Amino acid sequence: MKRMMVKKRLLDGRDCEKCLHAEELLRQRGAWEQIDQVIIAEEGNETSEGMVLAGRYGVEVAPFFVVQSDDGSEQIYRSVLQFLREQFPDTPSESIRESVVLSAESLAVLEQAYASRPPLEIITWALQTFGQECAIAFSGAEDVVLIEMAVRTGYPFSVFCLDTGRLHPETYQFLERVRKYYGIEISLMAPDTSALQALVKKKGLFSFYTDGHKECCGIRKVEPLKRALRSYRAWITGQRRDQSPSTRGEVLVIHPDEAFVGKEGLLVKINPLAGWTSAKVWGYIRAQELPYNPLHDRGFVSIGCEPCTRPPRPGEHERAGRWWWEEETKRECGLHIAETPTTTAS
Ligand code: SF4
Repeated sequence: MKRMMVKKRLLDGRDCEKCLHAEELLRQRGAWEQIDQVIIAEEGNETSEGMVLAGRYGVEVAPFFVVQSDDGSEQIYRSVLQFLREQFPDTPSESIRESVVLSAESLAVLEQAYASRPPLEIITWALQTFGQECAIAFSGAEDVVLIEMAVRTGYPFSVFCLDTGRLHPETYQFLERVRKYYGIEISLMAPDTSALQALVKKKGLFSFYTDGHKECCGIRKVEPLKRALRSYRAWITGQRRDQSPSTRGEVLVIHPDEAFVGKEGLLVKINPLAGWTSAKVWGYIRAQELPYNPLHDRGFVSIGCEPCTRPPRPGEHERAGRWWWEEETKRECGLHIAETPTTTAS
């Protein structure tokens, strides 16, 4: 068997950052010695060995991995995580601190310590501490930044997405793209069928335009979220203070979740991007060439369900495009507010 890693070399002679992180991850996991050959794909040089391989296998991302078996078959990996998982299943992942007992008091201390730290450092702490018992709540928008950073830590983690059944087709396609790009699993949380059928039977498919969004969000978002969180000890969200001064201006970086409970009761909520601005998030997405939801190119900023999201108008705040027919202070779906979830939640 022969394992090859194809790395990209940029026009200025540097290795691409993502390739360097992948290499570091392989070293951390003790898999680097098992790479038989490193092949360089030179940016702008279509005849370089790595570029030829990329063309042959139809790969557009770097790094990627080629595994040639003794029987002549070949396996291509576009994701370092998938490569590690399948090629080195027995390699121990980074040890997770066990039996960490966190209280509201210790979380307050951690909040102070991490309040001004970079998001990557906050995510590293979270995943070192909780591993797969920490889930990233991925909305299918610019919070892809959280997944990128989690991958970079090299620690295990979980990802879920609330599949309300009313997302844009572009969002579903983006979820699939992210799943393949990183080689990760994304759990889709669906609404409870009987609660949903009862709502639609009684009020139809667009009751939120007349009754307000809370009832529909309660069934399609809050209850599935509540169900998802019961499997975890901590969750990571993409909430930022600059998203909405009226509803998110006080978002903390680390705190006990006051709305939901986790598998052991206390649930830790982590908002690594709390202090970042939209411009900083987009600077990161573009610099790292991350995949993003194509709706952003059509003027959408904060992306939720299709019937309840529109691009904000010039001068409007980014969440002004969500439930635009309602009062500004009510434009939250119940996922991030400290209140008893709606009566529709089980
Ligand atoms: S955002 Fe709109 S469609 Fe989606 S769950 Fe809430 S009210 Fe329902």
